[in-house]
Amino acid sequence: MVATPLLPLEAATPAHICPFDQACSYLEAAAKELKLDQGLLEILSHPRKVVTVSIPVKLDNGEIRVLAGHRVQHSDILGPYKGGIRYHPAVTLREVSALAMLMTWKCALLGIPYGGAKGGIALDPKQYSVRELERITRRYTSELIKDIGPSVDIPAPDVGTSAREMAWMMDTYSVNVGHAVPGVVTGKPLSVGGSRGREMATGRGTMIIVREALADQGKTLAGVRVVIQGFGNVGGAAAELLHEAGAKIIAVSTSTGGIYSEQGLDIAALKAYATANHKSVVGFPQALPISNADLLTLPCDVLIPSALENQITKENVSQVQAKIIAEAANGPVTLEANQALEARGVIVLPDILANAGGVVVSYLEWVQGLSYLFWDEERVNREMEHLMVHAYRQVIQHSKTRQISLRLAAYTLGVGRVAQALNDRGLYP
Ligand code: NAD
Repeated sequence: MVATPLLPLEAATPAHICPFDQACSYLEAAAKELKLDQGLLEILSHPRKVVTVSIPVKLDNGEIRVLAGHRVQHSDILGPYKGGIRYHPAVTLREVSALAMLMTWKCALLGIPYGGAKGGIALDPKQYSVRELERITRRYTSELIKDIGPSVDIPAPDVGTSAREMAWMMDTYSVNVGHAVPGVVTGKPLSVGGSRGREMATGRGTMIIVREALADQGKTLAGVRVVIQGFGNVGGAAAELLHEAGAKIIAVSTSTGGIYSEQGLDIAALKAYATANHKSVVGFPQALPISNADLLTLPCDVLIPSALENQITKENVSQVQAKIIAEAANGPVTLEANQALEARGVIVLPDILANAGGVVVSYLEWVQGLSYLFWDEERVNREMEHLMVHAYRQVIQHSKTRQISLRLAAYTLGVGRVAQALNDRGLYP
């Protein structure tokens, strides 16, 4: 029997960049700008509930392994907790806690009635069979049964998970409570109450925010040179939609390496290639190989990190040549790198805005499910675009009025709304 220690898991995170400390630093900066009361800041700095469960799973070879699963519920001041489930070897409680906090500000910034949460299991999905992943997902869901629900906490896909895992979670929850509960998760397959447009939603939202930022400079997406790190749910969709809109995607990478073509990549052909090549873009014909490190420093108009956090750091920021960085991933630019980019006048479109398309369509999926009325894709995309552009305009306006960065403006709007609601609701008892 192989036992995986439940805690501490922190060793998996690079010691020098703690995602939760970074999230708290952004919160503190927003609190300072808002002149928030110290007590309120104290409340907002702490997750409301942290759950760690052990997930015993029987592998296909009969061996039993015990994995650690987390769910961190940061705040439900504005509505039910909402946030993705991550399957990745580097998942730690601190990372999940940071991502839960980001979800709170993101939902508040977009004006959707949710709080923030995140979940994750430290595992490499590539090392498990589909049946093993199903058993892991079902046991994890069943361990969290009292903590999730359509009006309590609604998980969604994140790194390493997709509609498939959401269907297993929905089924496990439904079987346990005795009736079908589609609203317990979002990002589900259409067959069990998913929303049209959800799969592409995060990438579409990123495309919309980049398009708006270019429009503010009097430019369009046509011919704009784009580099994308990560080619999964988010990066793949962003690549496809930007390509359709006329942008030139000159480089793309996955965890195994990247590819580069000065003429621009054929994204439809690349998607087909990656699907047939274990989700890797390496070896794609008519493109040159490039390392993930070199990809981030390519000369380009727009850089879209769509993989993991802490990719642009104080070590490589001076070599980054992009004029606009859209944070499709959560936390890809570290605090120090962000300061250096701001000082150089690089536009950093912050994660809680640039990747909010996913949670917006998750919200629209939940609304459709609760009202038993499903929309066509055109309507879903229209409603999402409306909320994204509205939030973008508010961030730009706030940044100009207060003379602060887009990140601080976005955080100040999100944190400010949660603090206001907390003030209005009062502290129980
Ligand atoms: P995913 O698992 O579908 O894709 C991740 C991609 O990143 C894969 O192509 C993988 O190969 C690549 N990758 C991993 N490590 C890499 C590395 N070191 N260098 C280059 N590429 C690497 O995950 P996703 O759902 O697309 O999520 C990506 C990011 O977007 C995460 O930060 C996630 O939190 C954020 N996000 C996702 C959603 C969503 O709806 N899925 C919503 C908001 C934010």
